[in-house]
Amino acid sequence: MAAPASLQSKQWSCASLAAGNNHLLQVKSEESRQRQADLEARKKAIQAEIEAIQQEERQLEPVPEVPEVMDELPASAKRMPPNSTKTTPVKKLAVVKKRREGEVPGVRKGYAMVDARLRRLCEKKPSGKLNVPQDIHNMWLAGGHSRDNLRALLEKFEFDKDGWESYIKDAVAYCKKHGLVKSLGWLVQALEAKIQAAQAAFDTFVECRSQVSCRDAIRQARVTRNPSKGLQRLAAVPLKKSETGAHQTFKAFGQSLDLKISRVDLVSKSRFPYVSLSDWLKYVVENDSLEQIVGVKDLQDMQPLLTTFWSRFRFSHPHHKMYDPLESGAPQHHSMTIPIVMHGDEGRGRKKKQITILSWMGLLGRGSSRCSGSGSSGDPEPVCSLNLLGSTWLTHFLHSVLPVGLYSNQPEALDEVFALQARELATLFYDGVEIGGRVFYVACVGVKGDVPFLTKCGGFIRSYTRKPTAKSSRKAGVGICHLCCAGKEDFEYPVPFEELGVEHPSWLSTVGLEKPYSSDPPYALVPFERDGTDVGKLYRFDIFHNLHLGLGKSFVSSAVCMVLELCQGMSIGAAFGKLSEDFRRYCVRNSESPYHKTLKASLFGVHTGFKECPDGAWSKGDYTRLLLEWFGDYCSREVGGRTDDPVYLLCAEATDAINEYMSGLHHENLFIKSNRTIYLGRKGLQFLLNYSKLAQLTFQRKQRRFPLVPKAHYLHHQFLDLVRQGERGPWTLNVLAFANQMSEDFVGRPSRLARRISPMTSSLRVIQRAFLAVRNALCNEDGSCKSGKL
Ligand SMILES: [Zn+2]
Repeated sequence: MAAPASLQSKQWSCASLAAGNNHLLQVKSEESRQRQADLEARKKAIQAEIEAIQQEERQLEPVPEVPEVMDELPASAKRMPPNSTKTTPVKKLAVVKKRREGEVPGVRKGYAMVDARLRRLCEKKPSGKLNVPQDIHNMWLAGGHSRDNLRALLEKFEFDKDGWESYIKDAVAYCKKHGLVKSLGWLVQALEAKIQAAQAAFDTFVECRSQVSCRDAIRQARVTRNPSKGLQRLAAVPLKKSETGAHQTFKAFGQSLDLKISRVDLVSKSRFPYVSLSDWLKYVVENDSLEQIVGVKDLQDMQPLLTTFWSRFRFSHPHHKMYDPLESGAPQHHSMTIPIVMHGDEGRGRKKKQITILSWMGLLGRGSSRCSGSGSSGDPEPVCSLNLLGSTWLTHFLHSVLPVGLYSNQPEALDEVFALQARELATLFYDGVEIGGRVFYVACVGVKGDVPFLTKCGGFIRSYTRKPTAKSSRKAGVGICHLCCAGKEDFEYPVPFEELGVEHPSWLSTVGLEKPYSSDPPYALVPFERDGTDVGKLYRFDIFHNLHLGLGKSFVSSAVCMVLELCQGMSIGAAFGKLSEDFRRYCVRNSESPYHKTLKASLFGVHTGFKECPDGAWSKGDYTRLLLEWFGDYCSREVGGRTDDPVYLLCAEATDAINEYMSGLHHENLFIKSNRTIYLGRKGLQFLLNYSKLAQLTFQRKQRRFPLVPKAHYLHHQFLDLVRQGERGPWTLNVLAFANQMSEDFVGRPSRLARRISPMTSSLRVIQRAFLAVRNALCNEDGSCKSGKL
């Protein structure tokens, strides 16, 4: 049963706030326990009383008259909403409003109001229904004294706003005393409903009181008679300063992180709050949580791990400043240099307005769901694992939160924050930070995010937004890729970005040839590759956005619509039904729980007809993975050997290639051996080549399928890099190191916090609440809290 409106309308605050609150709220005082026990006992007694009344009713008896005198009605009684009881229609009543002599105007007005309400309550509705039992309706029809009694009853019930407990007790006693059980049976039914509602409300209250706002936490602390010092201090916080005071108390009693919030003046906001990387690093090291950044717990394990990492990273990034002997001040201690990745994305805050969340994470972690970090037997070097496991509150470190109001009119505010990060990254790279007598260094090996974010933080001239949208234009296209000149129409020779899947595309020689920006972006300060080499590589393409939410989605939509043609003799609906049934069986066989269980035309964007270019309507990247795996299975049964048409065969071949590529990456660690890298890279290229052929063949057949989009070119870079790096050295960095799945999950968390608080203060409040959430995640991971309770 739903909670009453008073509870539903309550603005419960974020769960993270509850993290800090949990301990004080789960401690119940003796008195509150006793109160609750009393309440339960009383409710049971009332329930028993009602049951007794119902029992009596069954044995009864002629309907008694309503007593003439209403003075005995208890003061605390109030009317319950009547049940909509169906009764036999009676003849329509003509309501005549009576005016009594000697009434003063104000009283008359009040009287008229009660009369009107009584009429609305008791009269027959135009539909023929009655909202009250026939007995009550008859009493009202009778008029005179009988109606006066009803009016008095209504006044008593309606105007008393006392609590439900005393009301139930008194009203039940009243009904019993005056034999009104049958004539007011609707009231008894309402009482039962009220008891159930009250029980549900009570349960909801108990459940929700661990998720309350600061004000409610303080109020709760004030009524909880617990000798704890923390609760006493929380109770003493003024309600007008609830946020500041509550967070100070949480911090003082170990319920939040003891982490400094720094300030910087931005063009659009003075004293903008952020958490510096060095403060996070200090916190992690001092609290024995190195695992969150490098995947291992001890410093003794970290040092050989980092040495291995940098020795392997060199094969894919030989020009990194880490390896430059001429670069004065570059850290010489590879074993103490932690590789990290910066991440940024726009989430949705309050009123669905954009909010930019900037964070960072370690490149090394505890593995992935399909590869938990075990190395091959006999490998003397430590295993470098991916960072795709664990709560994202623990693997990602929040830097700052910018509501759109801070940068919509003054975009330079974002650049100021990027520059702030870049300056600190340079300091941490060259000078490091001393923690516990050891100097830790940090090296940023990439900036990741979706393409709009990369374009924004890199200030790119050449980006996906510059893709051609018409057959021809007067102005030459400037290019769509920050790494190369693909799509640049006035280049000295043709470099189309649509050239897909080949190992030597024409744009390959233009990689790193021209800078993608007119002036150096803020992240140019980040120590990365040596000057004169390809600095654009710092900005990492993301396979999650490019494949799962990009080309993979376009491919599987078009391919399913093509293979549908093989269901001959069926209508479109029947053909989709056949595929849908097959998809369901596949999901059952493989224990999958798909977001969309039915495959239908609207899901593939062809509900208006097959002349449309198919476009997947789902928003979950994982659904693309599932559809591709199912489609590969379906094609192996329904396409192979049943047709010679190259279109269908290419669809099946491309699906197998991309499935093998993705599965292969997920079963690898952070570094992949060269022969495996080349194999997987070529599988990716084969997928792209088939996609390109399919686009050509369907274009010749005048079908709108397999759109050629910039994301296909970005994937081409990734696949080709794997092959090139595999040829260059024994180890290659796994593409999944810069995948955004986990970071997307992380961005959602602070965004949800931001929806609970005012946009005016969200930059600070989200950080404070994030500290509570991290503290809570630490508790959950350990199974016990590391620091004391309030
Ligand atoms: Zn390119």
